Amino acid sequence: MSESKLIIQFLESIPSRGCCDDCLARKSGIGPRQLVGRICRRLASEGKLVRKKGRCPLGDHTKLISRLASKGSTASRRWGAHKPLQAGTLSIEEAWRYIDRFCRALWARHMKGEPPASLAESITTLRDEQLLPVHQANMMHTIRTLRNLVVHENLDFGEHERTIARAAWQIVRDWAEHREAQAWRLAATMCARHAA
Ligand SMILES: [Zn+2]
Repeated sequence: MSESKLIIQFLESIPSRGCCDDCLARKSGIGPRQLVGRICRRLASEGKLVRKKGRCPLGDHTKLISRLASKGSTASRRWGAHKPLQAGTLSIEEAWRYIDRFCRALWARHMKGEPPASLAESITTLRDEQLLPVHQANMMHTIRTLRNLVVHENLDFGEHERTIARAAWQIVRDWAEHREAQAWRLAATMCARHAA
């Protein structure tokens, strides 16, 4: 995956959807600040990021902040990421967001400190700590990777992909509603729309 895609992916993984070049370089591990700055300037010129001076959401400093240009990229809209998995359910984008909130809620409940910025790392750590069963963690990775392919690689999200995502979501939800009901409900209240 290219560095610009990794930068966008990182910004999408943090709730503020933006931060300064220093924090971006340090927390995403993409490379030296100069490289990150150069890529961010290019992404801004392409209209994918907005760069403005302000308070950095990830640190106690005022700097030039790169923020994603809009909620949900145009690519994800174009490729059906916002279409419900079936009538009355979440879209792949919403399912991904819900799982992100759920992992944060699980982390707050069972772990110390801040969760990792990357959802992949968060899922894997929760699984290794036996807070998530292997099967459900795999289904979360399925939703996460499908969503990333739609948004970053322009995967056309057709009926087969929707079927996989829907089944993965149901496997996660069935487990979470029974075993981590509180964190699951908390994730719902943090989301704009609730799971059907
Ligand atoms: Zn910062």
